[in-house]
Amino acid sequence: MEALERALSARGLTVSWIPGKGRGLIAARDFSPGNVIISQEPFASSPSKFSSGSSCDRCFTSSNLRKCSGCRIVWYCGTGCQKLEWKLHRLECKAFAALSEDREKMLTPTVRLMAKLVLRRKLQNDLTFGFTSYYHLCFIVHLSHQDMSDLDEKQLILYAQMANLVKLVLPSLDIDLKEVAQNFSKISCNAHTICDSELRPLGTGLYPIISIINHSCIPNSVLVFEGQVAFVRALEPIKAGAEVMISYIETAATTNTRQDNLKQYFFTCSCPRCFKELKEDAILEGYRCKDKKCDGFLLHEVEKKSFTCQQCGLGRDENETTKVANEIEEMSKVVTAVLSAGNLSQASSLYKNFEQLQLNLLHPHSIKLLQTRETLLKVCMELNDWRRALQYCQLTIPVYQRVYQSNHPMVGLQYYTCGKLEWLLEKTEDALKSFTEAANILRITHGSTSPFMYELFSRLEEAQAEASYKRSALGERMITD
Ligand SMILES: [Zn+2]
Ligand SMILES: [Zn+2]
Ligand SMILES: [Zn+2]
Ligand SMILES: [Zn+2]
Repeated sequence: MEALERALSARGLTVSWIPGKGRGLIAARDFSPGNVIISQEPFASSPSKFSSGSSCDRCFTSSNLRKCSGCRIVWYCGTGCQKLEWKLHRLECKAFAALSEDREKMLTPTVRLMAKLVLRRKLQNDLTFGFTSYYHLCFIVHLSHQDMSDLDEKQLILYAQMANLVKLVLPSLDIDLKEVAQNFSKISCNAHTICDSELRPLGTGLYPIISIINHSCIPNSVLVFEGQVAFVRALEPIKAGAEVMISYIETAATTNTRQDNLKQYFFTCSCPRCFKELKEDAILEGYRCKDKKCDGFLLHEVEKKSFTCQQCGLGRDENETTKVANEIEEMSKVVTAVLSAGNLSQASSLYKNFEQLQLNLLHPHSIKLLQTRETLLKVCMELNDWRRALQYCQLTIPVYQRVYQSNHPMVGLQYYTCGKLEWLLEKTEDALKSFTEAANILRITHGSTSPFMYELFSRLEEAQAEASYKRSALGERMITD
């Protein structure tokens, strides 16, 4: 393993353990956009159509191909590639030649890749390969993969069947079926699709060092291939100490789709892009921190049966949250019934208790709490309770700013309501601020010539006049004092 560390350090890289992710590749020096961070030949690879004569088994080129005269299955672009591959291919060539037509069909690219991996390892055990491949081997052994016990039965059966196929196509080799099945599970999350320059897939390869690189949906690096050689280049300036990241998937997709596509790699992405939306969801639909002064958001940790605050680390027990959630559920039936019966003053006090109950469980910016406060705002307006109406109106604004993009009319309208309430309560300066915010947004969304806007502008002017009168009156009083 030291050899690997030396080789990486010569390139300005280190491998580190990153909490929550496992290993990752870290830049030990600065990289500029376009710099090659690392390049690597595959430890084993297979063209996706190796037996159809469409690509060379060594370099993946598609021109001037000729069949191996031994097995008549694999193709090469010339004697150069054939010679380079012969050390490995001679171990399978005879076996391939002896395959019946039925068995030949079993030789899919994945089985082929595994067969090559088995052969590679055999060669290494025989020490016919040099030391550079030795550290590949170390890494193949340590490749991160999900525990076999985590796999569902269907996958286990599939891997066992594939391991059997490898044994069938390489009958002369002493193959450990369990180990091969395990390797299939590693391959499923560590293999890279080799593409041409226009990013069309050509085959699959195992690049142990490159597989250390973690995924991000907003990666700072990109993986491209020249033939079979993989190149990782910096997309943006990468500072020493930063993690090198590539994307394993198509990133032009929603968080849900991206997370779905990442399932095959057995992890949940928590890159800033996913995290932001995850955080948004956890705030809008989730629970609040046990510490009421903390506005952190909580993520469910199923195995711990708890919801953990991502800001302060405090956990909330699943049983406790379920209990409060049930109480809320029960009370929501009561409050809606009272409200639809039209009893406003009863509804007002019940909804106030309902809001307090929700506040015990829900994040202060949660949508459900927002809806309760919107109802309270309406009820208080009907009851001419301006003071409480204003209080609820003000509480809705930060959530509006969160759920609507800037300049959304809903935000402007809510500022307008706030301003009107503040005006009624003779909070002139506050009303002036709210009318100004409302006008700035609604001018964009509603134009400035409608009666609705004229009314807003005249309220704004009135507030301006009143505010400057109050300011000057205050100034005079201060002088006389
Ligand atoms: Zn070739
Ligand atoms: Zn052959
Ligand atoms: Zn992501
Ligand atoms: Zn907290």
